[in-house]
Amino acid sequence: MNVADQSVLLRHPTTNLRPAVERHLWQLAATELPPRLLELAASLHVTVQRVSVRNQRSRWGSCSRSGTISLNWRLIQTPDYVRDYICVHELMHRREMNHSARYWQHVAEAFPRWEEAERWLKANNGLLR
Ligand SMILES: [Zn+2]
Repeated sequence: MNVADQSVLLRHPTTNLRPAVERHLWQLAATELPPRLLELAASLHVTVQRVSVRNQRSRWGSCSRSGTISLNWRLIQTPDYVRDYICVHELMHRREMNHSARYWQHVAEAFPRWEEAERWLKANNGLLR
């Protein structure tokens, strides 16, 4: 960085854009994720009671026994196929509330690219923090 660049930075102390950007992304997530989940639910013939978009720190999504699916707003920052995979992953828990071999069979049938999506999530786990 040369001297001219430094003086520009000193005259404009960095504003922290992160809160505003996150708010915007959350809004986008709340608008876009639930309809997509419901679309996938309909095509897979799975019923859902409720969809919520939340700020989880350790998971991308969850599914309760009563049929509420929660999605992490950060999914809005992942590729489309990864977002879809998480939706399908949670939807398949409506069939099996576990990660048994039978569960993964449902996932593989509903979403053939699931392994690729899992790899992406592992490699980009830092997005959750
Ligand atoms: Zn799961």
